[in-house]
Amino acid sequence: MGNSEIKSRGERYLFNSYARADIALLQGRGVRVWDADGREYLDFVAGIAVNALGHCHPRLVAAIAEQAGKLIHCSNLYWIEPQVLLGQALVELTGLDRAFFCNSGTEANEAALKLARKYAYEKGQPNRYEIIAMEHSFHGRTMGSLAATAQDRFKGGFEPLVPGFRYVPFNDLSALREALSPETCAVILEPLQGEGGVYVAEPEYLKAVVGLCRERDVLVIFDEVQCGMGRTGAWFAYQHYGVRPDILTLAKALGGGMPIGAMLARQEVAEACRPGDHGSTFGGNPLACAAALATVQTIREEGLVENAALQGASLRRRLEELAAEFPFVRQVRGLGLLLGVELSLPGQPIVRACESRGLLINCAAGSVLRLVPPLVVSRGEIDRAVEILREVFSEVEAGKLPGDGRQGEDKPCSRAGG
Ligand code: PLP
Repeated sequence: MGNSEIKSRGERYLFNSYARADIALLQGRGVRVWDADGREYLDFVAGIAVNALGHCHPRLVAAIAEQAGKLIHCSNLYWIEPQVLLGQALVELTGLDRAFFCNSGTEANEAALKLARKYAYEKGQPNRYEIIAMEHSFHGRTMGSLAATAQDRFKGGFEPLVPGFRYVPFNDLSALREALSPETCAVILEPLQGEGGVYVAEPEYLKAVVGLCRERDVLVIFDEVQCGMGRTGAWFAYQHYGVRPDILTLAKALGGGMPIGAMLARQEVAEACRPGDHGSTFGGNPLACAAALATVQTIREEGLVENAALQGASLRRRLEELAAEFPFVRQVRGLGLLLGVELSLPGQPIVRACESRGLLINCAAGSVLRLVPPLVVSRGEIDRAVEILREVFSEVEAGKLPGDGRQGEDKPCSRAGG
C-alpha cells in the first residue's frame, strides 16, 4: 500500500485521535526513515524523543531478536533477569535506589503520584495528598497524570479529574512557596518542559525548589519522560543542576523504541510501596527490558550522551543564526538535543513544508518547532536539516508558503503527539 491507501484505510478503521501527516512510515535506518511511497526523510521527531539510537540500530535489533527467541513475556509473579539488570543499571546511573517498571510515560507518572500519596500515608499523614504541578506541564493522559498536566487543551471533556492537584507558574519560586501547604505531599515537574513549549528550568530555581521541598518534607518528582536518557547532554537533565529528586520517571527513549516506562525512587520512599500496592501485567517484561538494557549500554558505549551535548550545541548555534536572520523567529530554547524554536506565527504550516522537503519535525504548543533527533545524529545531518529549515523560512519570509498561517488560527498542534 502507498501513503494514500494506508491513510484512507486508517481513516475508515481507526479512532480519529491523532492529527496525522499524510505520511505512513515503513522503514528506518539511523536518522533516516522512508514512507510508503518510497520518500526519504531526516527524522528529527524520532518518535517524539524515543528513537535515541536512531532506527533499527543493530545492537537493539539483535537484543530484541535474542530475547524474543528466549522468553518474550512472563509474569511479575517471577523474577525477570533483564528487569533486574535494567533496574541495577538505572539505579547506578541515577543515584536513586529502586526501580519499578511499566509501559509508558503516563503510567510512570501515575505510579509516582500514587507512591507520593502512599509515602505520606505510611508516615501517618493521610491528609497529605495534595500534589503541586507546574503551568505548561505535560505528564500524560491517564486520569492521574492528566490531573497533573496543567494545560486545559488536554483536559476538556474529561472532567471531573482526580482531585488534589494545584498548579503554579514554572520558574517562579515564590509562587511555589505560597502554594505549599501542610496538605502537600509532592511537587512534580519536568526539568525541561517539552510538550508545553520547550521551557528549561532555571538553575537557581531548580536548586531552590529541591531545597524548599526538603525543608517542608515534601517529595520532589522529576518527570524526565522526554528529557531523560541522555537527550539533554547529561544522562538525566537534573544532573545539569547538581540536584536529585526523590522520585524520577522515565519512558520514551528508555527502550529505544520498545514501549517501557520506569519510576525510580530513593530507598525510604520506595519502601512505602508494598506487595499489591501497584503493578502491571506487562510492566518490565523480558522483551522490553532486554531492549532497554541494550539501549542503555549502547548510549554508554557509543558516547551518545556526549554526542547529544556536542551536536546539540551545534544545532542550537545554527538555529540561533536562523533566529538572527528571520524576524519571525522569536527564540531558540532547550538543552542538548531537545530544542525549541519559538515563532511569532503558527508552526504547523512550517512543519508540513519541512516534510515536503524531506525533514520531519513537529510543533509544540502551537508555535514552537521542536527538534529532537536521535542521539546518534551527525553534523552532516544537522547541516542538512538546518538547510531545509532555512529554505522553508525563506519561503515564509517571501510570503510564498501556502497557508503560512499568519492570519490562521493558533491551534495547538501537538495534540497528536505527547
Ligand atoms: N511526561 C512527559 C514529560 C512527556 O513528554 C510525555 C509524553 O510526551 C508523557 C509524560 C507521557 O508519556 P506517554 O505518552 O508515554 O504516556
